[in-house]
Amino acid sequence: MPAPRPRPSVAAIVAYRAGRPAGSDDLKLSSNENPYPPLPGVVERAAAIMSRVNRYPDAGLHDLYDALAGATGLPRDRFAAGTGSVSVLFAAISAYCGPGDEVVVPWRSFEAYPLAVATAGARAVTVPLRADATHDLAAMAEAVTDRTRVVLVCTPNNPTGPVVTHGDLERFVAAVPDDVLVVVDEAYVEFVRPEDAASGLALLAAGHENVLVLRTFSKAFGLAGLRVGYAIASADVAATIRSVTPPFSVTDVAQAAAVASLEAADELGRRVDAVVEQRQVLVAGLRDQGWQVPDAQGNFVWLPLGEDASAFAEAMQPVAVRPFAGEGVRVSVGLPEANDRFLDLAARWLTGR
Ligand code: PMP
Repeated sequence: MPAPRPRPSVAAIVAYRAGRPAGSDDLKLSSNENPYPPLPGVVERAAAIMSRVNRYPDAGLHDLYDALAGATGLPRDRFAAGTGSVSVLFAAISAYCGPGDEVVVPWRSFEAYPLAVATAGARAVTVPLRADATHDLAAMAEAVTDRTRVVLVCTPNNPTGPVVTHGDLERFVAAVPDDVLVVVDEAYVEFVRPEDAASGLALLAAGHENVLVLRTFSKAFGLAGLRVGYAIASADVAATIRSVTPPFSVTDVAQAAAVASLEAADELGRRVDAVVEQRQVLVAGLRDQGWQVPDAQGNFVWLPLGEDASAFAEAMQPVAVRPFAGEGVRVSVGLPEANDRFLDLAARWLTGR
């Protein structure tokens, strides 16, 4: 008997393959995680929920939305949370796109983008990055057609590192029709230091109701394993996304940890500062060795190694880094010892050739 056949766009999907966790956590610089474990107070608050996980979580996410409203000064109806920001992205694209629709996607960027588009049955129109690894927003605006329902902007861009500037994003949003959803993925926003970096929130505040900002607790807040991410959008767009998100997507354990982390934002912010400092150490060290490293504004750096990407990643063991075959290698910022070890191995790669 023939097996049921998925929609053609789904059949064509090559599944997302994250590396299998291997070796020491301390030397894992392959997944853009926060190298610091959660604060003891955060663990305590999350653990306290365990005794009542026979109950479903609060599907209305009241505590989380109250805490986000408190942290941002925005009303709670502007938020839509899900199982990591990636699931919010899938919900957003599925809500606004279907077969025959187009999504403009910068490329190379986050691998989940084409997956989310294909899952919705829509078509990804990819626009290559510029030579300095930044978004080509002029080309992206030109790629918008009558069929475009969503455009994706990733700032800082994973895996290459640079941000979109605020002026560029402002011009871009002004050029895109109002009925096209502009998703501004700010997964790494807390690590960004240039003053002129784009702010999706500022554009929303300026009345661009088609802007959706994607944020996560996985990076700066160090809760990747608990899977909490959220959109900040107009009340209408946020309500639409909440309406297509499966009920109970965020557990109470995750919600408690997220709320406790928001309350500890100052202490967690000092860890982010330490990661940013280590990022500068990595970038400066690599440039001193002679590597071409694009501006790095996330918790990772990019080496455009081309065809050498996979061999380089192999040679970095036991440090785990992330190769993108034929393109480059992304190295997450870890604790100083891991970063130094990586720098040492990178230098050896150059001299060994
Ligand atoms: N957006 C970008 C640009 C990312 O790099 C990631 C994680 N790698 C995510 C979204 C998803 O993060 P999460 O689902 O853990 O919130």
